[in-house]
Amino acid sequence: MTTETADFIVIGAGIAGASVAYELSLNGKVILLEMEASPGYHSTGRSAAVMSENYGPALWSRLVTASRQFLEVPPEGFADVPLVTPRGALFLARDGEQGRLAAQADELASRGASIDLVSAEDALRFCPVLKTSEFVSALYEPDCMDIDTNALLAGYLKMLRARGGRLVTNGRVETLDRSGDVWKISTPVGTFEAPVVINAAGGWVQQIASLAGLSYRNVVPFRRTAVVFDPPSGSSIQTWPMTFDVAETFYFKPEAGRIMVSPVDMAPSEPCDAQADELEVAIAIDRIHTYTTMEVRTVKHKWGGLRTFSPDHEPVIGRDPEEPSFVWLAGQGGNGVMGGAAAARLAASFALGAGIPADIAALGVTAENVSPGRACVLDASGEKPVVGTLEAFG
Ligand SMILES: Cc1cc2nc3c(=O)[nH]c(=O)nc-3n(C[C@H](O)[C@H](O)[C@H](O)COP(=O)(O)OP(=O)(O)OC[C@H]3O[C@@H](n4cnc5c(N)ncnc54)[C@H](O)[C@@H]3O)c2cc1C
Repeated sequence: MTTETADFIVIGAGIAGASVAYELSLNGKVILLEMEASPGYHSTGRSAAVMSENYGPALWSRLVTASRQFLEVPPEGFADVPLVTPRGALFLARDGEQGRLAAQADELASRGASIDLVSAEDALRFCPVLKTSEFVSALYEPDCMDIDTNALLAGYLKMLRARGGRLVTNGRVETLDRSGDVWKISTPVGTFEAPVVINAAGGWVQQIASLAGLSYRNVVPFRRTAVVFDPPSGSSIQTWPMTFDVAETFYFKPEAGRIMVSPVDMAPSEPCDAQADELEVAIAIDRIHTYTTMEVRTVKHKWGGLRTFSPDHEPVIGRDPEEPSFVWLAGQGGNGVMGGAAAARLAASFALGAGIPADIAALGVTAENVSPGRACVLDASGEKPVVGTLEAFG
């Protein structure tokens, strides 16, 4: 088998790998290795496909802000359809949670995002099926958007090819060895070499690091379940927002004429082809019955997907402290699609040894606070990502 050489090899063709491959292809030849027959088969193809600047831990939500421009106005020729369409998001607070809602509103306003703080009764004008007795107030984020994830992924891959890069499917990385100044990679479909590797393997990032002979990093996958059912007949759901509670026990949104709901479960998982959990399906249905006037008669569709977190839930992006030619783009949690454009630019800047892009640095992102070498990511002594925190949406 011949060996193909490149300037950069990216491992994993989900949204993370495709986007950083696209960014790096401006600077050299990129090979993107994907173990499955199709890109986007795992987490990227299973998301709720929403972009909210009020979502996620501090640094991720800022990367979402820094990604907005790309999603709204992608480069010429990137896609034939809009990558984002208006959705709106509604965050519901119970008694005692108004302080949290106010803090979210302040944080959003500080980044220039539009917000509207309303009573639970007023929230009915956005989503008429809420049981308002369950909540006291709500934050409406009008600029929350649906993302066309397929078009986004396809756009990155199309542009990668146009710039001379290559996607290799069925290309599971089986060995990864550093020899001199070069990484040598073997897959069932060929061998590949490059001086720099980007680890964008989603739930499998720790496995890739182990193959490379690097120390354990605390970046681990958790399963989430999603369920789809028919809305009440005659209701015009298309304008309903993404609706969730501040306490993070559920969210639901219109999805291709139906309603998607998640009980926002977060169960530790091995990296795998995740499936919906039956107990979580039942919990999702119960949440709909408890907090809305809708009735779930039949589950039309359900799925599971992995979301990968570091203990602080923040990005894991940067050069490995043991081997600087091994660059991490990981820990996307529930922000990987919406914040992926800025995360990719950040990872590319580390791979190139360049400074952090100015717009991202201006939002308070530093090499240290996203580093794969920061204490909580390095610490394998028992500190695990916290389950069920405010950041568990996605
Ligand atoms: C139910 C649910 C709802 C979500 N909702 C949202 C949302 O609304 N908005 C949002 O932004 N995010 C959301 N997310 C999170 C989002 O889906 C992830 O953050 C994102 O898809 C992660 O992308 P990724 O490229 O890192 O991972 P993946 O898409 O999993 O890609 C990693 C790739 O690496 C490949 N790989 C693994 N090992 C190897 C190997 N040895 N060799 C070669 N390839 C390998 C895998 O096959 C895979 O294709 C949601 C997630 C779930 C599960």
